[in-house]
Amino acid sequence: FFASCNPKICVVGSGPAGFYTAQHLIKARQDAEVDIYERLPVPFGLVRFGVAPDHPEVKNVINTFTQTAKQSRCSFYGNVNVGKDVSIEELQQAYHAVVLSYGAEGNRTMGVPGEQLAGVYSAQNFVGWYNGLPSCQELNPDLSCETAVILGQGNVALDIARILLSPVDILKKTDITQPTLEALERSQIRNVLIIGRRGPLQIACTIKELREMVNLPDTRPEMVAADFNGVAEALKDVPRPRKRLTELMLKTALDTPGEKEQERRNKASRSWGFRFFRSPVEVLGDPDSMRVVGIRLAVNRLEGEGEGARAVLTGEVEDVKCGLVISSIGYKSVPIDPSVPFDSRKAIVPNNMGRVQHVSGLYCSGWLKTGPTGVIATTMNNSFDTARSLVEDIDSGTLDVSISKPGSQSISALLEKRGVKPVSFSDWEKIDNAEMKKGEASGKPREKLLSVEEMLRVVQT
Ligand code: FAD
Repeated sequence: FFASCNPKICVVGSGPAGFYTAQHLIKARQDAEVDIYERLPVPFGLVRFGVAPDHPEVKNVINTFTQTAKQSRCSFYGNVNVGKDVSIEELQQAYHAVVLSYGAEGNRTMGVPGEQLAGVYSAQNFVGWYNGLPSCQELNPDLSCETAVILGQGNVALDIARILLSPVDILKKTDITQPTLEALERSQIRNVLIIGRRGPLQIACTIKELREMVNLPDTRPEMVAADFNGVAEALKDVPRPRKRLTELMLKTALDTPGEKEQERRNKASRSWGFRFFRSPVEVLGDPDSMRVVGIRLAVNRLEGEGEGARAVLTGEVEDVKCGLVISSIGYKSVPIDPSVPFDSRKAIVPNNMGRVQHVSGLYCSGWLKTGPTGVIATTMNNSFDTARSLVEDIDSGTLDVSISKPGSQSISALLEKRGVKPVSFSDWEKIDNAEMKKGEASGKPREKLLSVEEMLRVVQT
């Protein structure tokens, strides 16, 4: 007779990866119990702190995550910083399996002189600032300059460009934070340059985001026609999504607009444009204020074709005057516990189908597993894959679930001893309600609480 016990699994991180992993585990095993540990008192990761405030439809996934959180076999423990408040080894002792889904909280740096000057930010911090991430609220960027430069041409870069240039009246109806709205109201930025190392055929954004830029009220596109030499001719060989994206770029950059569009562009008070074949060499600063006043760019040429083309320096450089530099060249996962293998070159946890290499009972999903690329749907699929691997391991006996494990009981005791007070999902719902109520007063879907202290205060009332 085997005493069978319920598999107790914990998930670290409550972004899309954490929630989709939990959802699949609960569905696939009627006996599985899943606890989600989250560093912040609020769930949903980049759905709350990354996705642009003017893309509310993307945030509908929160409804699915909420359904998962409300299942009797799922519990949420917010305000628990794994790696600091509790170690992975302690979690492994308490649970049959641990799934790491803590995302990519670091950022890639440009590695050029002047990067530390005032007025230079990583996309991650800038996005965190306008989305209310508590650790980014001190950023308080100075938007009193005319020109902003964004390095990188992915969707995150376009999100930032759109937020910098959108009429404030549009943003007022979103959940963008109040301090950001006030800063944008005072903003003097008239011109945003979005810079890429390679050419139009290698750009990393998608057509939806480009179309939003092209149609952004009160702005006009300003491109450099020469950047598009030979692009139309190369189009016949490229896959359809890239073809459509490139056609829209070509139309925007080269076609003479119709009368109405010309009038719209003439009237626009702000402009934006891509600059291709440029890499940052140095951020130029004012020696007295230590603030950015410009950026030196190396002029590149392409070697090879298509997606694989490489940017090669020509030796030429060019200076661009600007008062704000945002580097949007990628997020990066960081190790949170020395006991967990970490591939620092790829900045991921090395794994086979979500099974952390050489450590049984340890899994990973989401951006920590794949690196920081892909939309929520991509993250969903790779998280389902990880959950499938885990279930397979239980079914095959590779993962031993025959010994009973204490689960949250022992972790809660540890946390209490350490003075850490976890936030439950119904506590989060209190915060959620308080934020929505606060937003109602100003016609916004929500007004986010901007500090952990404020969030915890609401929980305690
Ligand atoms: P995350 O969402 O980052 O979740 C990780 C979670 O782990 C966080 O809640 C974090 O607080 C928590 N955590 C971190 N460290 C610890 C710790 N030590 N202990 C406990 N918890 C911890 N996708 C779309 O489909 N549409 C979009 O419009 C879109 N916009 C985006 C905009 C930006 C700026 C960015 C960066 C991404 C965007 N994405 C978008 C992509 C999408 O956000 C990701 O695919 C997805 O969030 C990755 O999920 P994840 O769970 O791996 O990471």
